[in-house]
Amino acid sequence: MKTLLVISALGLLAAAPLPKKGEPAITALTQTSGGIRPAEQLALRFDSADLTFEVLPDTETLNGVAALGFTAKSPVARLLIDLDKNLPVTAIAIDGVALAPGAWSNPDGRLIVRLPRIIPAGGKVRATITYGGTPHVAVRAPWDDGMVWSKTPDGRTWFATTAEGYGCDLFWPCLDFPTGEPGVVDLHIIVPKGLKAPSNGTLIGVDTLADGRTRWNWRTHNPNTYAIALNVGPYEEISGSYQSRFGNRIPMFYWYLPGEKAKAEKLFAEFTPTLDFFEAKVGPYPFGDEKLGVVETPHKGMEHQTINAYGNDYAKAIEGFDWLFQHEFSHEWFANQLTAANWDDYWLHEGYGSYMQPAYGEWREGRARYDAMMQSQRGTIMNLKPIVQGRVTTEEEVYETDKGGAGQDIYVKGSWMLHTLRNLIGDDAFWKVTTLAVYGRPDPRPGNFRPRFGSSAEYERFVQQVTGKDYRWFFDVYLRQAALPELVERRSGDTLTLSWSVPGGGRFPMPVEVSVGGRTQRLPMTDGRGTIALPAHAHYVVDPNAKILRRSVAVEEMQAWRAAQAAKKSAP
Ligand SMILES: [Zn+2]
Repeated sequence: MKTLLVISALGLLAAAPLPKKGEPAITALTQTSGGIRPAEQLALRFDSADLTFEVLPDTETLNGVAALGFTAKSPVARLLIDLDKNLPVTAIAIDGVALAPGAWSNPDGRLIVRLPRIIPAGGKVRATITYGGTPHVAVRAPWDDGMVWSKTPDGRTWFATTAEGYGCDLFWPCLDFPTGEPGVVDLHIIVPKGLKAPSNGTLIGVDTLADGRTRWNWRTHNPNTYAIALNVGPYEEISGSYQSRFGNRIPMFYWYLPGEKAKAEKLFAEFTPTLDFFEAKVGPYPFGDEKLGVVETPHKGMEHQTINAYGNDYAKAIEGFDWLFQHEFSHEWFANQLTAANWDDYWLHEGYGSYMQPAYGEWREGRARYDAMMQSQRGTIMNLKPIVQGRVTTEEEVYETDKGGAGQDIYVKGSWMLHTLRNLIGDDAFWKVTTLAVYGRPDPRPGNFRPRFGSSAEYERFVQQVTGKDYRWFFDVYLRQAALPELVERRSGDTLTLSWSVPGGGRFPMPVEVSVGGRTQRLPMTDGRGTIALPAHAHYVVDPNAKILRRSVAVEEMQAWRAAQAAKKSAP
């Protein structure tokens, strides 16, 4: 505490101009999240993090003290910890003993700490790191990351952070890759008088400091590395609780800006039926012993574990629910409970995260709503790159198509792949696979599961386990090829012949329905081909219920036309 106050006094002396959006510049390493890790990081098990954040909105600076607990999986002589070098380290103590200032350096965004002794395999080490400076300011969060400094409509301080793309190292010393989750995190967030700091997990208490500021103390377990978030404003709060079908009672909170009570109450009223949907279709809310939390933010939204960011301005839509809230909330299951161990498998987060809005539309209103919502996603599938590359990737190598990533296809093509899989293996098998993937067991109930890491390969094994069949041919095409399968139709005499043409040329025994004269038949397509009798002049429709993700010339032509229109508009 003492160190912290000294630094903040220094911070006040420096009358530096406020950083602009995108400032201060960050290194390539800080901008990167995930990817191949140094052996010294992989040698660490991250047991605990005790994080104090002193946020100073007037100077847009941050002071922090992070006490990190690790267990060495193999002998460790140095700690390599990711931290933006815009937040210089002023002191480090190892197991309570201060290091000499020459014992650490941070040349490019990865703190290198020379330990006074080698930590043997199985040994523990606690590093207490005091740091502070000007954290990077986001340009357009959550599409890029950093601090989002803002004001409420009545001019009061309001800000938040996002870190999904660039990673936790923007704000605190961490292991910036998906499996770098600490076992337990204690947060102590010091904010100006009159502001609140809702955050991850359970509220332990709020302390009032001598100068009138408040310190908000929270504890959370197994948070995603990018889930730790600061959300600070003059919030008002709605709370309630949900009686789960699994027997537990789940506390629910929404923190919103003053003056929005009626709109906030309507959004809060969506929490219970949405929770009921996920618990019925997937399984228990994974963080029932902490809370369901949502906070209004000056950016669009993010799946911060137990404190989902909401910035959708209470938008109204034909489906009758707030898609942004529903999408971020779905990530409590598909991102925070089931976490992809490698960015390469992030379709598990975003494909499922996007499929859950049509699935909820179906739960509420039936098949027509589901179909309409699926169709609105269909037109945005680009098929530029395979969803999965089969290697350890960074976040940017997945989200950015010019870096080899599938970009938005991990959302919409992932969603359509799940739609196709569900039609192929049936509702019962599909939801069983989903539950297995999320909890690692078929019978989750509160207390018998923990957040877990998964992968595409594991998901394919779960499909095989539930169905008793090998669907490698399915995932080879939809996950590991960019182009879609094409159904070639040939009408000759009184016969219609259908054949699958798939990228990679493998087998593709995807059954196809055909409606002839209003009667629907199912062709097994066992060897990738099928024929059906077709009387002269008879009208037919292939795949009349749009059960299969396949090439559509109409979608391609529409996308090409839209791209040409956009180019025309942007031409001088
Ligand atoms: Zn998402």
